[in-house]
Amino acid sequence: MPENITGKTGLQIQHSDYLQPLAETIFAIYEGCRPLLEEILGVPPTQGMLKKLILLPTGGGGFSSGVAIGLGVWWGNFPEERYGMVELLGHEATHSWVLPFAEPMWNEGIATYVGILLGREFGLNKEANATLKRWIDGAKRHDPEMTKFDLASGTDIPHVVRMAKPMWIFEQLRTEEPRIISKYFQAKRRLIDPKKQKRYTANDSVAVLSTATGRNLFDWFRSLGIDVKASRTKVPHP
Ligand SMILES: [Zn+2]
Repeated sequence: MPENITGKTGLQIQHSDYLQPLAETIFAIYEGCRPLLEEILGVPPTQGMLKKLILLPTGGGGFSSGVAIGLGVWWGNFPEERYGMVELLGHEATHSWVLPFAEPMWNEGIATYVGILLGREFGLNKEANATLKRWIDGAKRHDPEMTKFDLASGTDIPHVVRMAKPMWIFEQLRTEEPRIISKYFQAKRRLIDPKKQKRYTANDSVAVLSTATGRNLFDWFRSLGIDVKASRTKVPHP
């Protein structure tokens, strides 16, 4: 099928003729989501990232290469229902947004969590809240107290725990700081200089999160069974 490429306000949209009727709708959703995402994440996307939206004729989710994100247009019963598309857009956009360093402990979990927060901001509270509850309930079936699985170094972690323990962690922190996600990404951008460090580790991410909350979170993370230590990071933190 021929490929159409449309340029819109700095974003290139690539799709086949077949998907033309949906392209406008998805772009309208993107336009509505974009400022909300910047609000949630607290920083603009990393320079050069998120320049292209590729619409895929599948229901199988999406991908992010950094510069481009791909969205499966039949995901989550779109276009009848919008929540799945909004969450997917938030998920893939987060991957692009947070580069050059992916998140060591919660790259996928935080992406879906941002997608859920985006759903809420977009006015789809019922679907967003139900999704979050489903994830966290699913993780609690494996670990009711959230103390068993080590997100930092554990390998044998059930998918639902890998995804939802981070959501649970951020939900706990959100009760004291409602803008915890934006504070975290602001601190990450301020403290982590890709010119000076080559890697971003679990220990670094807890240092950044400690800065975002204003208190040292290493003991708390250790109490959750996560093997991180302040002595293993050079990132300044409380
Ligand atoms: Zn992902």
